[in-house]
Amino acid sequence: MYYLKVFYLQKNLKAEITEVKDLTYDIKLVRFHLIDPATMDFKPGQYVQLKVPGIEIIRAYSIASDPKNKSDIELLIRYVPNGQATTFVHKALEIGDKLTITGPYGDFFLREDSKRDMICIAGGSGKAPIRSILARLKAEGMPRKVKYFFGARSKRDLYYTEEFEQLAKEYPNFEYIPALSEPLEEDDWQGEVGLITDVVDRNTKDLSEAEGYLCGSPGMINACINVLSKHDMKEENVLFDKF
Ligand SMILES: Cc1cc2nc3c(=O)[nH]c(=O)nc-3n(C[C@H](O)[C@H](O)[C@H](O)COP(=O)(O)OP(=O)(O)OC[C@H]3O[C@@H](n4cnc5c(N)ncnc54)[C@H](O)[C@@H]3O)c2cc1C
Repeated sequence: MYYLKVFYLQKNLKAEITEVKDLTYDIKLVRFHLIDPATMDFKPGQYVQLKVPGIEIIRAYSIASDPKNKSDIELLIRYVPNGQATTFVHKALEIGDKLTITGPYGDFFLREDSKRDMICIAGGSGKAPIRSILARLKAEGMPRKVKYFFGARSKRDLYYTEEFEQLAKEYPNFEYIPALSEPLEEDDWQGEVGLITDVVDRNTKDLSEAEGYLCGSPGMINACINVLSKHDMKEENVLFDKF
């Protein structure tokens, strides 16, 4: 019991908020500068737990930043109407605030010993862990082939588009495929249109040797796993985080 308590306490990290930025109408980037301890080692894809001050609740958020930077942690937090933690983050959190996070946690992380081609699929704030995974791959010169599908409703749900298009320009091994399910007329969208499952289906061939990294709503992930298995991706090569 005593050891359990010590272990738990050791995972607390005090941090100061150094950036709060709108990425879309409902997703904010929040940057935490770690104070005590001053660094955290994490695997790209893992998450932290955020303690919401005052109401004593804890919520999980995937780390969106480069694992090379161990002292500044970025989270992408989507507003959930009436949600306790996200209302606090979107309506009250300010630069200079001090918060506590714990972590890192989770077994959804880049398998660094693998050389397999990768299919990444995300929706909404599910872009967070994939961004961290891609930062690690970029640091290594993008040694694996990666196709990254991002599903959104319309153009206003897209973010970090330039960042990933730039990555695709720099590394022929990396392809970024944003897809809109309900593009608006004013979006003037020239890219992929349709449900992300259909877009993945028509843009992939044999996946028997590939690895999948999926992050988004449970419904989206379940439907995408079916598509990947239709293309012969092995169950043990599919990694996902549902939220
Ligand atoms: C491993 C993991 C990683 C996660 N990473 C992220 C991340 O990177 N970014 C992020 O924004 N969120 C992430 N989440 C979700 C996050 O932990 C919270 O569940 C979410 O932010 C809602 O918290 P809340 O306190 O605002 O809402 P709550 O007060 O818990 O919920 C309010 C109401 O909204 C409903 N609800 C809760 N969550 C959602 C949702 N996601 N969509 C729609 N309705 C919902 C509830 O059923 C409830 O009715 C992650 C979850 C897990 C388990």
